[in-house]
Amino acid sequence: MKMETKCLHEGYDPQNGAPQAMPIYQSTTYRYQSTEHIGQLFDLAVEGHMYSRISNPSVEMVEKKIAALEGGIGALCTTSGQAALLISILNICSAGDHFLSVSTIYGGSINLFSVTLKRFGIACTFIDTNATLEEIGAQIRPNTRLIFGETLANPALTVFDIEKFAQAAHSHNIPLVVDNTFATPVLCRPFEFGADIVVHSTSKYMDGHAIQLGGVIVDSGNFNWDNGKFPELVEPDASYHGVRYTHDFGKAAYITKARVQLMRDFGAYPTAINAFLLNLGLETLAVRMERYCKNAQTVAEFLAADSRVESVHYPGLAGDPYHKMAKKYLPDGCSGVMSFSLKGGRESAIRFMDSLKLASNVVHVADIRTCVLHPASATHRQLTDEQLVAAGITPGMIRLSVGLEHVDDILEDIQQALEKAENL
Ligand SMILES: *Cc1c(COP(=O)(O)O)cnc(C)c1O
Repeated sequence: MKMETKCLHEGYDPQNGAPQAMPIYQSTTYRYQSTEHIGQLFDLAVEGHMYSRISNPSVEMVEKKIAALEGGIGALCTTSGQAALLISILNICSAGDHFLSVSTIYGGSINLFSVTLKRFGIACTFIDTNATLEEIGAQIRPNTRLIFGETLANPALTVFDIEKFAQAAHSHNIPLVVDNTFATPVLCRPFEFGADIVVHSTSKYMDGHAIQLGGVIVDSGNFNWDNGKFPELVEPDASYHGVRYTHDFGKAAYITKARVQLMRDFGAYPTAINAFLLNLGLETLAVRMERYCKNAQTVAEFLAADSRVESVHYPGLAGDPYHKMAKKYLPDGCSGVMSFSLKGGRESAIRFMDSLKLASNVVHVADIRTCVLHPASATHRQLTDEQLVAAGITPGMIRLSVGLEHVDDILEDIQQALEKAENL
């Protein structure tokens, strides 16, 4: 099946007489005939739902759909993108461990990696996305457990060279974890380029309608965890009568452990109604992405041609430093988000944003409606100037998330706001 079809038909396959729409199984618990059976569930000896902190039939349908879209063997939904990131890392990192991340990533992820995980004894080194294989290798220590990057960075819009970082990671027997939020599996499937684990904030394009937070972790099933570096996946888990994830679950070792151990203990699992709403977004994802890309390309070209605009970051533009990389990793389009700076700097940026009528000033991105954000005063406010530069952000940068309104209306709004920003 092609993407559009998968978005509609994966995960739920109604049989004769069954509901056409995905059912909402709104239940915390599941009924079994015998104590014996429940005991087997607790030993992970049989498959089945026990309690909705670990799994739920509606959420499972969405997990299957997302796994199919990414080309993975399994997925675990979470209550936010941040929860997905946290669990994806803690699944293979403990106190005393270290990991590498490129510096052009989401501001919330920078906080998580550089402040909070550090408090738990997990160290992160940030590295330039343009680092060479040698430079990456030089940062890998004996206790380095993974490399992390974003396919299309929020908000720097750098394109992550997945193959290069996968090669660096694999030559040191560690996995590559990719945040694929902005690209979505419609525009890029990181597993096809060697990534091992994919994470998403489903709050963005997957939901698409700005109605609920969510996240997901997807496992490619390709990484060999039994290489001496990941004892927590290979050796017996005392909290499950000595289950050994690689031995007992094979290719699904990582995603099974994330669910039955970390999700059980942390409790960040969405409910059935969350899954139902996310599924509504997913059903139209491929169709929406096509239009986001088309509208954004037109808007980016318009901004790049305007004399009041200093710079536009959108890898779909021929002059963008990441255009070549985008052609490889995002051949069908670069999604709807771009960032740009006005010649008037920070003040003009704020005047421009406050003059917009159609586009909304919100702390969100990848919505169905066009929206703008000033990262230096919002999402990236906690970052030092040095971190801002490393994250690819300038004080006057505006992040523009082009929506699905008619592109003529979006351009008209931008045009009038540019005039106001200049004339005030
Ligand atoms: C928004 C975002 C996150 C965090 O997701 P939430 O759902 O807001 O917790 C992580 N990574 C990227 C790239 C994001 O855009």
